[in-house]
Amino acid sequence: MESYDAIVIGAGVIGSSVAYHLARFGARNVLVLDRTQIGAGTTSQSSGILRTHYSVMENVEMAKASWSIFNDFSGYLDDEEASAGLVKCGYLVCAPEGSKLEPLRSALAGQQAQGIEVRLLDQAQARELLPIAKFDDAALIGYEPEAGFADAYMVATGFARAARRKGVKIMEGVNVERLLVEGGKVVGVETSRGTFHSNTVVSTQNIWAKDIERWTGVASPVVPERHAVLALEGPEAYSFQMPVFKDLGSPGMLYCRSYGGNQMLVSEGTVGETLAQPDNEQGDISLDYIVDVGAQVAERFPSYETAGLASSWTGVYDVTPDWNPVLGRLPEVQGLVVGYGFSGHGFKLSPAVGRVLAQEALGLATDVPLAPYSIERFRNGRLLTGKYGLGAVS
Ligand SMILES: Cc1cc2nc3c(=O)[nH]c(=O)nc-3n(C[C@H](O)[C@H](O)[C@H](O)COP(=O)(O)OP(=O)(O)OC[C@H]3O[C@@H](n4cnc5c(N)ncnc54)[C@H](O)[C@@H]3O)c2cc1C
Repeated sequence: MESYDAIVIGAGVIGSSVAYHLARFGARNVLVLDRTQIGAGTTSQSSGILRTHYSVMENVEMAKASWSIFNDFSGYLDDEEASAGLVKCGYLVCAPEGSKLEPLRSALAGQQAQGIEVRLLDQAQARELLPIAKFDDAALIGYEPEAGFADAYMVATGFARAARRKGVKIMEGVNVERLLVEGGKVVGVETSRGTFHSNTVVSTQNIWAKDIERWTGVASPVVPERHAVLALEGPEAYSFQMPVFKDLGSPGMLYCRSYGGNQMLVSEGTVGETLAQPDNEQGDISLDYIVDVGAQVAERFPSYETAGLASSWTGVYDVTPDWNPVLGRLPEVQGLVVGYGFSGHGFKLSPAVGRVLAQEALGLATDVPLAPYSIERFRNGRLLTGKYGLGAVS
């Protein structure tokens, strides 16, 4: 039986980041197992938006640490060919009078208190940045210049490649069928390609985290939720220079960004379709949904009244009851560290999450405290629910 210092289950952007950081922090003998391919899970469905705007301050800190890595991805990995595909176009967020106004004001102030550059803009200044939109209902507009979007698949493969260069073994097409536990301690995993031994296992299985519940009997509070993403082509380009935009005034709390330098990528920031089973295959997108989102877009971007649908896809979020991840050890199973439940906002946290999960697995001090993200919050009621309520802003 092969033996490893640590085994990572799942090679999405989170597992790849964990694997790289395990090696970076000194683990010599690390194995990553994925039943499909690196980045082929929900990572490849991501909209890729990067911001530090959150109402949960723990997330602001994690996103800020991650941004500094995205901003110098190749330098951080010491690989001049690595690229995150970063487009640093900034992040614009606005709210009208009403229930989202105070959460926005307090989130912007919270970011500033953590030393993040955030500007308050008037409607004319917002139009200068995003001239295809109108802001006549906006009571508060925030702008985060150090933000934008990147490519989650490129980041996953970048971390995986850097991990391999440090000696990590990544096996694709290997299904983990069971966690092996003896006397309450992890001793390895049983897979479609045999048994591998380790006293440290990190599970980064996203919507498939219910496996942990089956293997250990410890509940995994995660539900798979499908969301649709549309690419629209309007008469006016949504260029790479224009910021990512979050419209807290629209019924669907829309987010949009440039797609390919010309089209608009748009999706709703609200609750999606709950699936009975974890499954990231493509789902149907109804014509009613497209018409509804199109109407919301046209409210904000008048010339998009005549926009056409260029492409569309679905992706699945791993949603927890407070829309924030579970990070850290499972108290019941010694040697098992988990990172799941990213609820549609895990890409922007992935570098910092990889660091802290690797630190935790190796028994090192973590960059930020993991206690707020512990699974025990669902037992003691200390939830991390954001001020915007449930939804991917958090
Ligand atoms: C439509 C959509 C839009 C999004 N937009 C954004 C955004 O704009 N910004 C942002 O920050 N985040 C966004 N996200 C969220 C972000 O993309 C995810 O949080 C992140 O990619 C999750 O990475 P992961 O590694 O946890 O999961 P995954 O990429 O799903 O990886 C999990 C891996 O585990 C493997 N696996 C599971 N079980 C087993 C097993 N038993 N044996 C072997 N392998 C196993 C799977 O094969 C899979 O490859 C979005 C997500 C979606 C779906």
